[in-house]
Amino acid sequence: FGKPRAGNASNDRNTQNHLPECNIALLGCRGAGKSALTVKFLTKRFISEYDPNLEDIYTSEEIVDQQPVLLRVMDTADQDGPVNCERYLHWASAFMVVYSIENKRSFDICHRYLEIISLHTKGVQQDHPVLLLGNKLDMERYRQVSKADGSSLATKYGYMFYEVSACLDFESVRQVFHDAVREVRRE
Ligand code: GDP
Ligand code: MG
Repeated sequence: FGKPRAGNASNDRNTQNHLPECNIALLGCRGAGKSALTVKFLTKRFISEYDPNLEDIYTSEEIVDQQPVLLRVMDTADQDGPVNCERYLHWASAFMVVYSIENKRSFDICHRYLEIISLHTKGVQQDHPVLLLGNKLDMERYRQVSKADGSSLATKYGYMFYEVSACLDFESVRQVFHDAVREVRRE
């Protein structure tokens, strides 16, 4: 298994440049499910084992509300919290901060990402949509982070909040990515 490539995904070099672009950076601690969500979105498949060190940018032409967009997804691979944030802070038009609902620590680390993004957007005086994602909703039995806690953290910053699962239906994962595009368009 190599890079996830949907039928309509392609290398940057081959894509038409006239499309409006949207860059989404996925952030969060290792194991939260960033790669699984990225792969699910691009291929509709759940890949359970994905190289945890692999960080890459994937490109896909999407149609969101009848309008085409060149969507780039940066699947980051921080070890244990934010480092070298410049690589995405100036690149991203939207941020997805991911934790696992069955891992409290991953939720705690999200705070640090949200703080960095919020400081950055204040600094550049430009708003970028931020989506806080509680992943692994299928692991309800092992939940360590309540929906209310996730929701109130997002609300504290004025960010959007979702609970998702990379291994359940494709539609709700796609919905989240498309909502990010919608928010970027509203900016
Ligand atoms: P990353 O480090 O944030 O990129 O996390 P990965 O995408 O590599 O996922 C870490 C582990 O969690 C892997 O074993 C995945 O199979 C698993 N995983 C990811 N998303 C889900 C999910 O929605 N549900 C369940 N049950 N496992 C998931
Ligand atoms: Mg990964």
